[in-house]
Amino acid sequence: MNRIATIARQSTLDGLSRADRTSGGSPERLPGLSGAVHLPGTEAYEELRKPLRADLDPRPAVVVEAATAADIRATLLAARRAGVPLAVQATGHGTHVAADDAVLLRTTNMTSVLVDPARRIARVGPGARWGQVLAAAAPFGLAPLSGSSPTVGVTGYTLGGGVGWLARKHGFAADSVVRAQVLTADGRLLTTGPDQYPDLFWALRGGGGGFGIVTSLEFQLYPVDQVTAGFLYVPLSGEAVAAYETWTATLPDDMSTALVVRRMPATDDVPANLRDRSVIMLKVLHSGDTGQTRALLAPMLAAAGPVLHDELGVLPYAQAAMGGTAARHLDFFPALPTGAITELLADHAATGSTVEIRHWGGAMAQPGPGAGPAGHRAAPFSVILDTPQPDTASRLSAYGTGATFLNFLADTGRTPTAFDPENLRRLRDVKRFYDPDDFFALGHTVTAPPRHHRLAA
Ligand SMILES: Cc1cc2nc3c(=O)[nH]c(=O)nc-3n(C[C@H](O)[C@H](O)[C@H](O)COP(=O)(O)OP(=O)(O)OC[C@H]3O[C@@H](n4cnc5c(N)ncnc54)[C@H](O)[C@@H]3O)c2cc1C
Repeated sequence: MNRIATIARQSTLDGLSRADRTSGGSPERLPGLSGAVHLPGTEAYEELRKPLRADLDPRPAVVVEAATAADIRATLLAARRAGVPLAVQATGHGTHVAADDAVLLRTTNMTSVLVDPARRIARVGPGARWGQVLAAAAPFGLAPLSGSSPTVGVTGYTLGGGVGWLARKHGFAADSVVRAQVLTADGRLLTTGPDQYPDLFWALRGGGGGFGIVTSLEFQLYPVDQVTAGFLYVPLSGEAVAAYETWTATLPDDMSTALVVRRMPATDDVPANLRDRSVIMLKVLHSGDTGQTRALLAPMLAAAGPVLHDELGVLPYAQAAMGGTAARHLDFFPALPTGAITELLADHAATGSTVEIRHWGGAMAQPGPGAGPAGHRAAPFSVILDTPQPDTASRLSAYGTGATFLNFLADTGRTPTAFDPENLRRLRDVKRFYDPDDFFALGHTVTAPPRHHRLAA
């Protein structure tokens, strides 16, 4: 074990408690800490150290499973005392940096979800996943601004902006946050809101996890029950992709769509006429009735048809997650020019890559006063290219704006490109004030050179 790991193991744990550890494979139970501590060599350590990304193989010095906000604070203070870095992980879906020799703080068990149907507000613990909020809100005819997967963590998703199928209608998930409790790098547990620590509250709504550890989040829910949603398959053609640009410009904000170019598997669960075939899959979610949805779809299908397979139906919003394409490379595009379409289709033909073009805009582009730094709000399209061919991705960037979206960005070297210049400047000011030593450095974070500068808190 290297020096830092040794320090972490001894000092961090000794900082949390000086005695009463049990060992021998069972989790360490420490006075003052209701969660468990796992050291290398235990089964739980092996399981909990891993994020979703299989190419990362982190070896933290220690894994702490927090059960309460007090646990989170005790862990942070111990890590600081020991001079050891700290990484926060709820589900591991958005972890892109290996927490080697660090304290890995898992909030996974802090899954409380409280719904106040009268105020249409949910309050969640930092380990809650979208599936849990969907299940808690649905009995009241309410829904959160969740995304393409119910297993994604609410807090990580929201801190990174959060774009879901209701975002054109209601904005980014970050726009719906009304309050956040956050532990700052110096160990203060602050309740932030529009009138409490407004700069920190602003940064948390889309600026990522580099400003503190969120211990609870409160956000608005919306009256959404049944929706018309699902997939429509049409033949692959450049004309159909081009038609998507003109068609989406006519859509109301309660209709969200994406166009996916993909090769269908040759498996029995795929309809016979789609098997092993390259197609366009249109993803649709509309908060209106099916008749209206089909009327809105008609111009696109006239340009792209015939429909090969139709899976559109009425279903509860909670079942309409519709999945996503691995965001190996995402760019925002101001338009879908012929050159870009040709490039994308050529890459698909050569490598079998998947391309997902998503229509943004709507409420995301019309933020209320005081809205956070989430996203590049003016961008009409994002293009995700899941290809093994990096050259295509770099050629395609010529058609993009150079910007990207924090939640769909794996490369932490590109974190600043997730923000417009004015928001980036302001985020760096907030970072400098609340985390001057860059303690929260493992993950997407904006760093700022030290400057003597104070913000109103
Ligand atoms: C299958 C899949 C589907 C997805 N779909 C969407 C989608 O539809 N829309 C969308 O916007 N994004 C989507 N994402 C991206 C996802 O929102 C981000 O990866 C997000 O960071 C995941 O958060 P997590 O807590 O689940 O992951 P984790 O890996 O546990 O955490 C990711 C990061 O979030 C931060 N973080 C987490 N908890 C805290 C906390 N309590 N305090 C401070 N920082 C914290 C940390 O920086 C951490 O490194 C998807 C990702 C996957 C894998």
